[in-house]
Amino acid sequence: MCLNNFNEIRERIIDQLVSMGIVSDEYVIKALKTVPREEFVPDNLRKYAYLDQPLPIGYGQTISAIHMVAIMTQELKPRPGNRVLEIGTGSGYQAAVLAEIVAKMDPEKKGRVYTIERIPALAEYARRNLEKTGYIDYVEVVVGDGTLGYRDAAPYDGIIVTAGAPDVPKPLIEQLRDGGKLVIPVGNRFIQRLLIVEKQGDRLIKRWSIECVFVPLIGKYGWRE
Ligand code: SAM
Repeated sequence: MCLNNFNEIRERIIDQLVSMGIVSDEYVIKALKTVPREEFVPDNLRKYAYLDQPLPIGYGQTISAIHMVAIMTQELKPRPGNRVLEIGTGSGYQAAVLAEIVAKMDPEKKGRVYTIERIPALAEYARRNLEKTGYIDYVEVVVGDGTLGYRDAAPYDGIIVTAGAPDVPKPLIEQLRDGGKLVIPVGNRFIQRLLIVEKQGDRLIKRWSIECVFVPLIGKYGWRE
């Protein structure tokens, strides 16, 4: 396999995820085939960008595996025009995948992604990655404790948390619009399960999905450092 032909490799790995039944949403497939993951990993790991596994991005953090981004994005079901909040910016890759769907596919609908990262140097790294790939105009990168959400742009059509939480942070539920969806890994520090929460008026409809392993969500409504 030629590791320099990233477009071909990207296309092939996403087709594999489709044939394995892991992803079927047309918007998600198109976004994953469009966003250049190789631009969101450190230079020395570019040749591994399409290995379907988490890769280190510094500060003890990781960019999630491709199938995990596919599954979480599909569970969230973003659509053009949506306003989406991500907690855990990391490399900015998941934010770019969301921005491709909610904003870049149909800019007139004015969708937007807000993403919060607690480590300032990673927020800066993500901003640079989003800038060089042309997504920065659709994404606001905020430094802070994402377990508090981001009230300035609430309510959100969807909220995605890309770090493992002990429970669902209350502010995130408050900042979901009626009919909105939250996707979050919940469990202990070592293993979690994806939880999908839909807000319907005063009711929360919860569904558990697959097991997963994420770095811890650290903050007021997360784990202690
Ligand atoms: N979504 C990222 C990407 O596409 O590269 C990968 C996220 S990485 C698995 C988890 C990130 O969550 C780390 O960058 C970590 O610093 C961040 N994080 C952990 N707790 C957080 C919090 N309370 N608020 C914001 N970010 C947090």
